[in-house]
Amino acid sequence: MAPHPDFLQQVDRMYEKAAALTDHPPGLLKQISICNSVYKMEFPLVRDDGTIEVIKAWRAEHSHHKLPTKGGIRFDLSVNENEVAALATLMTYKCAIVNVPFGGGKGGIQIKRSDYSDSELERITRRYTFELFNKNFIGPGTDVPAPDYGSGPREMAWIVDTYRTLSDDPLSASACVTGKPIAQGGVRGRTEATGRGVYFGIRECLSYESDMQRRGLTTGMEGKTVVVQGLGNVGYHAAKYMQEGGAVLVGLAEYEGAIHNPDGLDLESVIAHRKATGSILNFPGATNIEDSAKALELECDILIPAALEGVITDENAPNIKAKIVAEAANGPVTADADAILLEKGALLLPDVLLNAGGVTVSYFEWLKNLSHVRFGRMSKRFEQASNERIVRALASAMQVDISSEEMMRLTAGADEVDLVNSGLEETMATAYSETREIALSKGTDLRTAAFINAIDKVAVSYTEMGIFP
Ligand code: NAD
Repeated sequence: MAPHPDFLQQVDRMYEKAAALTDHPPGLLKQISICNSVYKMEFPLVRDDGTIEVIKAWRAEHSHHKLPTKGGIRFDLSVNENEVAALATLMTYKCAIVNVPFGGGKGGIQIKRSDYSDSELERITRRYTFELFNKNFIGPGTDVPAPDYGSGPREMAWIVDTYRTLSDDPLSASACVTGKPIAQGGVRGRTEATGRGVYFGIRECLSYESDMQRRGLTTGMEGKTVVVQGLGNVGYHAAKYMQEGGAVLVGLAEYEGAIHNPDGLDLESVIAHRKATGSILNFPGATNIEDSAKALELECDILIPAALEGVITDENAPNIKAKIVAEAANGPVTADADAILLEKGALLLPDVLLNAGGVTVSYFEWLKNLSHVRFGRMSKRFEQASNERIVRALASAMQVDISSEEMMRLTAGADEVDLVNSGLEETMATAYSETREIALSKGTDLRTAAFINAIDKVAVSYTEMGIFP
């Protein structure tokens, strides 16, 4: 998929729409929007066959109003400076919206992943980390990467391992990157966090009766028809939780094509079919759609683009039939398409709000690494014992017997994954309702409201620093 040529310009247009509804001075608004620093690097890779190739990569730190800066690393051929800066910009606003105390950052390595062996990918990732370290673009208090399109826990493990060998601060070295495997200091629930957060955000949206009535929808997840584009980390988990929550997956799209079945597609069976045949196409009972992008135009209640940016433009926006467009990917809707969809009455759940679950749980992982203790370790047994005393007292007063299994179920203390998921749920629900309140009070859409929320919070940080009056 070709990158949208003006991704940064698209983000800036959305920013300006929101900035016009605030009363901050123009200089401060400029400072909030510009990208503070971008490091472009080119380094050699000795390929498995002995030839040498030059790899291009970037790391952008959009805003230093809070440190560290935070954002994923993308591995894709479409990566370029404009894209990395745009994604770093979105990260600043996203962190502010969910009250995560980081500035925005983003990295990218311009490669087609599938063209490289595992050992070549490892050498690229380690050398990229080395370059970041050399220029002070990585560290627990400076800049903390995470997974993004084309990268995952394995790449994060290589990063932390490389950083640890270079750093003279072994105590906090594991906080230099998030999205790590558990054994390397990761936190339970991070892998699925973005998709789970997307689900929590959509569930919250579906709970407002007046918003649903305006789109001819009932409240609640049950029976809502959904199309998902991209079955990677974010898309797969979003689809999984939506299906478990009672929604019906009527369309699924991957780069090789899309499939459609108005009666529903079972996600795990589709994944198993893809594993066996190498494609989601020809799934039993479903209709093939050869041009994958056409799946975006299917009849459905909720459309979840979860692949890359710029997939809904002024060209296909008039054909989008979904009543809710839930932006799981970053920047899937261009500024022109945004205006067209709003005009049609669609409800747009913006990326800066909806996919913030990843950075939220990354924040929890960073806290865990710095505190060197697993969430729940100090409190789980204590909670369980207190709960047991209460249940025993109630059972005795009511003269009822409680089986040991029932006692276990009623009194269990919270483990790490319970606390992470509950913190994520609270964050997404609060951010959604805060954004909705701003939208109502300013008479604007959710994206503009989310940007206003971010601008106000970043402006307060700058003012508190004493840089601006
Ligand atoms: P991923 O690499 O795990 O998955 C992306 C999927 O999209 C892949 O399965 C790929 O085959 C598919 N795809 C590519 N082109 C497609 C096309 N034209 N049509 C349909 N499918 C296509 O990446 P991810 O981590 O899931 O990231 C997806 C999006 O979510 C990106 O925009 C990323 O920036 C954003 N995001 C990711 C995270 C995270 O925690 N991973 C957090 C916030 C936002």
